Amino acid sequence: MSEAPDESSRLLGILGAGQLGLMLAEAARSLGVRTRLLDPNPDSCAGQVSELIVAEYDDTDALARLIEGASAVTYEFENIPVPPVRTLAERHTVAPPPGALEMAQDRLNERKLFQRLGIAAPKSVAVDDLIDLAHALERVGTPALLKARRFGYDGKGQHPISDSGDAPIAWEAIGRSPGIVDAQVPFVRELSLVCVRSRTGQTGFYPLVENVHRGGILRLTRAPAQGITPALDAAARRAGEAILEELDYVGVLAVEFFQMGAGDDATLLANEIAPRVHNSGHWTIEGAETSQFENHVRAVMGMAIGSCDAIGHSAMINLVGSVPSPERIASIPGAVLHDYAKQPRPRRKVGHVTITADDRGELDALLERFTRVVA
Ligand code: AMP
Repeated sequence: MSEAPDESSRLLGILGAGQLGLMLAEAARSLGVRTRLLDPNPDSCAGQVSELIVAEYDDTDALARLIEGASAVTYEFENIPVPPVRTLAERHTVAPPPGALEMAQDRLNERKLFQRLGIAAPKSVAVDDLIDLAHALERVGTPALLKARRFGYDGKGQHPISDSGDAPIAWEAIGRSPGIVDAQVPFVRELSLVCVRSRTGQTGFYPLVENVHRGGILRLTRAPAQGITPALDAAARRAGEAILEELDYVGVLAVEFFQMGAGDDATLLANEIAPRVHNSGHWTIEGAETSQFENHVRAVMGMAIGSCDAIGHSAMINLVGSVPSPERIASIPGAVLHDYAKQPRPRRKVGHVTITADDRGELDALLERFTRVVA
């Protein structure tokens, strides 16, 4: 007779309680795993579905409460300070490992990781001051992008440079902080790979998806991306696998790529990684055999991961600023609304809609209808 699992084997602590925490908590609940979340914001949307501790990420007492009775701790936000996460990892299971968090917080280290693993990326040079920036632009050329090394997301912390005269403005725009200058690459489209690794080293790869950004914010993901050659698919998986192995990773990880060229000449340049569930993986809730959220919980809780295969074709539309009328969304066949119940605010992701269809033609027709009727 097997022993009943004790309560502690079914409690997961999560640092961060935004929409990613919300969807992780929902996936955990369906697996019989309770969650306890920590976030400095008392209005964090995941507080609707989970126990929430409101405190700073480095509050020692709050961290002690977070891990009490928990068998693992994970995070859903990559700008969490690394030292408290390292301290937690000395005595508890923390996944993904703190080293992955540290790596993803610094664009320079990320690019060095790509270089070490032989993963192609846009040409880039590190800059620490305005003089460095002038030299970097000579090496990288223009147009270019100046990106802060740390605390950049959703297009924040970066500034375009069309010629060397823009350097002082760009330097001010990123807060005169250490950065990297990226050659602006003429990509054909943006793709991302969401992958997962279990505690025993089992890996899974969702199909490559195609992403459309506007104003630095992801607006639309279509899955699976069309026209992916076997070579492109293999290159993406090779990159994902190498990063997972190198970081001794456990959980879901996303890699963002630029596709250069088309058809058989297509190649990939890696832009950045996210050591967490990712916005370009939200479609997996309805569109894949196992969602990214469920697979993340499975991995960090020491379970086997589930199939990452897509079921048909999916589109994920981010709702930015405010949520449109649910009645209109419901009028689109195959559309599912995820309202995060966040206060409307310009540029804020307040929800998403997933549309699923049997084939790409039908999906595109439904997307067109969504744009006409809802957006
Ligand atoms: P990031 O913050 O690095 O994800 O960049 C935000 C967006 O800026 C990306 O999704 C791209 O659309 C664009 N971008 C970033 N880096 C480059 C680059 N090296 N060349 C061209 N576009 C870029």
